[in-house]
Amino acid sequence: MGNKSIKGIIFDMDNTLLQSKINFAAMKKDTYDYIVKLGLLPENSELLNLTTAKIIERALESATKKGKMTEELKKEIWSIPTKYEVLGMEKAPLEPGVEDLIKALYGKFLLVVVTNNSVEAAIRAFRDNNIYQYFDLIVGREMVKSLKPSPDGFIYVLERYKTISPDEWLSVGDAWLDGKASIDVGIKFISYKGDIQKMNTMGVYPYAEINDIREVLRFII
Ligand SMILES: [Mg+2]
Repeated sequence: MGNKSIKGIIFDMDNTLLQSKINFAAMKKDTYDYIVKLGLLPENSELLNLTTAKIIERALESATKKGKMTEELKKEIWSIPTKYEVLGMEKAPLEPGVEDLIKALYGKFLLVVVTNNSVEAAIRAFRDNNIYQYFDLIVGREMVKSLKPSPDGFIYVLERYKTISPDEWLSVGDAWLDGKASIDVGIKFISYKGDIQKMNTMGVYPYAEINDIREVLRFII
């Protein structure tokens, strides 16, 4: 199973590196309610099948069409998920084994994070857990046009490290959207404590499944 050609690993943050307790369902419902209240999208419970980021993207598209789009509006809407993130990440510890893994990989592989969360929140969480210094690059939502499951964050990484091809990266995450975004650019995806059935339903078939983050080592060394 070992793969000697791997040069870097791209991690998801929430519930992959960090034991976040973000209430994603409430975050989504609250954001949706607010957007409907603003009249940017019609009431349609099917929207709740989308990710929070996608609902916001649709709302901002609608605002643009209506000539109501401003940076302030964008900030105002994003403040709702941000509130849930800050709450869920407060004093969040690392997932078990993360520190061991990161230290084992450091200096031998590029270590990158692609998160739908904000860069600022990621930096704070990694600093609090004393692992910030090990990462080569953190790509957060301020840096890309579309969030996962869109592959923009992964494209950003590939552009930044032009000499490293997609098959020399490995991606690790807990959610189908991490898998979708990776696989769409040809990066192998390892599911960490993921819901494989849900992933398959979304057309995501992981390269491997692990339940201890340290198992990543099996695929690269
Ligand atoms: Mg996650």
